[in-house]
Amino acid sequence: MEERIRAEVVGKITKGLMQLAGGNGSGIADLAVMTEPEVKTESGPEDPLENGYMAPWLETAECTSCDECIKLNPNMFAYNEDKKAYIKDPNAGPYQDLVKAAEKCTAQVIHPGLPKDRSEKDMEKWVTRGEKFN
Ligand code: SF4
Repeated sequence: MEERIRAEVVGKITKGLMQLAGGNGSGIADLAVMTEPEVKTESGPEDPLENGYMAPWLETAECTSCDECIKLNPNMFAYNEDKKAYIKDPNAGPYQDLVKAAEKCTAQVIHPGLPKDRSEKDMEKWVTRGEKFN
């Protein structure tokens, strides 16, 4: 009994779909293709390792005013009124300037973050060098 009812329902659905598809049933295959799930094989913008950005930061209160970062890139780093360094403009030079400043910082208070644009030359090398300061 249950089998018969199920067969009737399937038959009615199939008939309805065929009518929707234009009567000859040729559209059924198209409907099936349209509903197949997409398989993504490429990494997209949601891939954090591919496109992850982390803003650089500096622990200004701990700065010892050694001048190293300012000498390296005075457009990127500056002193505040207490002669403590801060990041004036993280985009005022290449990502490698943030990493070099972190390496030179005598107080170890510069953190280069992760770059927005990874197309700069030798970027993976600079990301690796900068990792230990984040
Ligand atoms: S390199 Fe470090 S300690 Fe020296 S001025 Fe810059 S932030 Fe301050």
